[in-house]
Amino acid sequence: MGEVILEPARETAIIHRTDVLVVGAGPGGLAAALAAARAGVEVCLVERFGCYGGNITVVGVEGFAWYRHEATVEAGGIGHEFEARAKAMGAAVPESQSLSYELDSEGFKLVADRLVEEAGVHGMLHRAFVAPVMEGNAIVGIVVESKAGREAILAKRVIDATGDADIAARAGAPVFKTPLEEVQAASVMFHIAGVDKTRFMEGVRADPQTYKDWSSGEWEVETDGKEDALFSPFLGKPFAQAIRDGLLPAELNTIGGTWGAVHDSGEMTYMNLVHLAGCDGVDPDSLTRFEVEGRRQAMQAIEVLRRYTPGCEGARLRNFGMSIGIRDSRKIDALYNMTEADVRNQARFEDSIGIYPEFIDGYGILIIPTTGRYMHIPYRAMLPKGVENLLVAGRAIGGDKVAHAATRNMACCAVAGQGAGVAAALSVRLGQPLHAVAIGDVQSELLRQGVRLH
Ligand SMILES: Cc1cc2nc3c(=O)[nH]c(=O)nc-3n(C[C@H](O)[C@H](O)[C@H](O)COP(=O)(O)OP(=O)(O)OC[C@H]3O[C@@H](n4cnc5c(N)ncnc54)[C@H](O)[C@@H]3O)c2cc1C
Repeated sequence: MGEVILEPARETAIIHRTDVLVVGAGPGGLAAALAAARAGVEVCLVERFGCYGGNITVVGVEGFAWYRHEATVEAGGIGHEFEARAKAMGAAVPESQSLSYELDSEGFKLVADRLVEEAGVHGMLHRAFVAPVMEGNAIVGIVVESKAGREAILAKRVIDATGDADIAARAGAPVFKTPLEEVQAASVMFHIAGVDKTRFMEGVRADPQTYKDWSSGEWEVETDGKEDALFSPFLGKPFAQAIRDGLLPAELNTIGGTWGAVHDSGEMTYMNLVHLAGCDGVDPDSLTRFEVEGRRQAMQAIEVLRRYTPGCEGARLRNFGMSIGIRDSRKIDALYNMTEADVRNQARFEDSIGIYPEFIDGYGILIIPTTGRYMHIPYRAMLPKGVENLLVAGRAIGGDKVAHAATRNMACCAVAGQGAGVAAALSVRLGQPLHAVAIGDVQSELLRQGVRLH
C-alpha cells in the first residue's frame, strides 16, 4: 500500500434486519433469494445495479441452457423456472443449437421482478456491498453504499452471490484467483439491429458451422469427439477473411465466436464475439481499460460483419451490455473444492444439493451433455473457511479451473443458489450453524421445491 488517509470512525444507520441476506442478484443470488423465501424465512436481496438477473441482464448473456440435447439430464428447480417463466412471459425464443430457449436480456428484467415480488423477497436495488459487519469471525450484516450514503443491513445468515466473492474476501475467508495469463477471457457483449434475417439464415444453412470449426483458427478446443459434428452458431470465417484482407490487424484474431438469436425485427442479440485476455475482474483500472477496448473491438467486429456476412450489410449497433462480462475472478477456498475429476467423472456426494449435466465449457474444453451423464454439486463447496454465517453461491464456489468450467454456467449457478438459499433458511429455522445444518432436511426441502438431487 502506498500513501493512505485515515477515515474517521462513524455511526452508520441500520436500515433493515432480515433472516437471510443475499447480495448479488445473478442466477446464483436470484435463485438463492427465491429458494430461501419459499423455505419460509424473511429474505432481503441487495444488488448494486437497477435490475435483477446478473450477467443475463447486466451483460446480455442470453444462452441459459444451450447445452441441452435429447438425452441431457437436468437439475429442474429454479433454473428450469427461469427459462419456463421467461418463455411464458414472451421473454425467450428457441435457441439455435439446442433444445432450449434463449432468454431475452431485457425481458428477463421483468421476469425477475415478478419472481422476486411473488416470493415476497425484500428487494434492494441500487445498493452496493462495501464492507462486512463482523462479530468475531461471524458475519452479522453488511455495510452498503448508495445515493443515500453509507447504511447497514443486519442478517442472521448472509449469502455472497456477487460472482467475485466480494463478501468472503473482505470478511477474511481465504480466496484465490486464476493467474491473469490463464484467466478466461472477458467479453464486451453487444446486440445489433438492421439484419436481414432471411438472408442471414440462408448463409448459415449454405455453410453450417460445427464445434470442430472452433479449432480451425486461433482457438484449440478439446472435445469428447461427440461434439465435433454438432451445429454451432459460430462466426469465424468473416474475421479470418478480414485479417487476410487487411481490414483487421492480425493480433485481433481473437475476434470471433457465436451469434445468439436473430429476430424477425432484424435484431441479432447476444453477440459473443469479443474476447479480451488478461482482464482482472476485481481491479477497476483493468475493468476500465478493457471496457473501452472491448467497445472498440465490438465496432470493428460489426464492420467486418457488414462487409463479409450475408444479411448483415445494413447491420448497426443496437446496444452494448451495461457492463463488460467477467467469466473468471475470485473463488473461495471452500470446505470442499470441486475437482476436474469430479466434473469429468460424474461425481457423487452425500451432501448433494442438486445435479448438473456434464457440461464443461472453459479453458479450452467443450464437453456437451448429449449422453445423460451428470454430476452432483456438494453443499460444502459453498461453505467458505474461517467465517461463520456465510455461504457463497454462483460462480465463486470452491473448485479448480476445470471444475469451474462446469459450475460457472448459469444453470449450475442457479443450482448452487437454490441449495444455498434453502440451507441458509433451514439453518435459521432450525437454529443450527451453517456448517452443521441438517443436510437431510435441506435435501427434503429442495425436493419439495422441485430440485433433482441424485
Ligand atoms: C460474456 C460471457 C458469456 C457467457 N456465456 C454463458 C453462456 O452462454 N451460458 C452460461 O450458462 N453461462 C455463460 N457465462 C457465464 C455466466 O454468465 C456466469 O458465470 C454467471 O452469470 C455467474 O452467475 P452469478 O450469479 O455467480 O454471478 P453474476 O451473474 O455475475 O451476478 C452477480 C451479481 O452481483 C452483483 N454484484 C456484484 N458485486 C456486488 C456488490 N459489491 N454489491 C452488490 N451487488 C454486487 C452484480 O451486479 C450482479 O448482478 C458467460 C459469461 C460471460 C461473461
